[in-house]
Amino acid sequence: MNARAGRFAARTVRVKAPGKVNVSLDVGPLRPDGYHSVASVYLAVSLYEEVAATSTETPGITVSISPDSTLDLDGVDIPLDGNNLAYKAAAIMADVSEHATGVHLEITKRVPVAGGMGGGSADAAATLLACDALWNSGLSREELAHLAAELGADVPFSLLGGTAVGLGLGDELSPALAKAQTDWVLVAADYGLSTPEVFRTLDRLRDAEGLVAAEPAGVDPKILQALRSGDAEALSRVLVNDLQRASIELAPDLRSTLGMGESLGAIAGIVSGSGPTVALLAHSPTAAESLAEDLLHHGLTAWAVHGPVPGARIISDTLL
Ligand code: ATP
Repeated sequence: MNARAGRFAARTVRVKAPGKVNVSLDVGPLRPDGYHSVASVYLAVSLYEEVAATSTETPGITVSISPDSTLDLDGVDIPLDGNNLAYKAAAIMADVSEHATGVHLEITKRVPVAGGMGGGSADAAATLLACDALWNSGLSREELAHLAAELGADVPFSLLGGTAVGLGLGDELSPALAKAQTDWVLVAADYGLSTPEVFRTLDRLRDAEGLVAAEPAGVDPKILQALRSGDAEALSRVLVNDLQRASIELAPDLRSTLGMGESLGAIAGIVSGSGPTVALLAHSPTAAESLAEDLLHHGLTAWAVHGPVPGARIISDTLL
């Protein structure tokens, strides 16, 4: 910027983006390209990541983790370089934006890291939206969704939010008009699971049993019906996650977390995505709150949440 144009004016755009629970997750066989086709119902829940993107006079992308993060991040591996999904999202946006500047991304982590809730994906979705606003890129939601899919299968959903059916790698999304609220308690583990390793474990378990999985045909309409009516009892009967047995194989304590949740009053429980976060279904917001309290008393980290909630959205835009 030249002297006549005045001092560089930094601006901060802050965006929040939700984590997700897979209410159902059917996983097909290993494909020749190394991926698996899935059929899943995604539910965006009220546990949010936040990204504050600040324009900088110095070119380039920097990343930091906010001290306001509510997770215990001691010993947790979050890359701050080009391997961070938020960094990758900013780099992709810089490529397509005429007026890109340098940017600093400060991430407030609330979604468990490597927890199966798409926390890194939420950071990427939030960063896409923040940089789009910061650099006046003017991309449509479709264009942003396209970039999101390049970053990872779960990124488009964090942008979209709500309830959606995901096919293909999970990134071919159809929004589902299921707006009734369901209440959940999320139980975090103090370790993470690698998503690729959980998929590999599922393949190994299936091979050992001589089981050939079918290509997922679609999702059970009963799941969408239950989500449309907010009928938690009906939903509890159709929750399904093909990855759950693989997550439990790698982390057997998940079985006792699920058992404890149910013995303390959850209607049903399911491992979220590749885990190890467990999602427990509750009858009401108050039932979720008291279940979370009980779990806390048993020494577990638990949060009462609800879904569906909207996808990534701007919460402030400030000239500094
Ligand atoms: P998914 O459910 O989409 O498979 P996840 O929620 O299980 O993902 P993430 O928290 O997104 O897992 O992160 C998985 C790994 O990715 C982490 O262990 C970390 O090394 C790396 N990573 C890259 N970017 C981020 C980020 N912004 N936040 C957290 N981890 C990140």
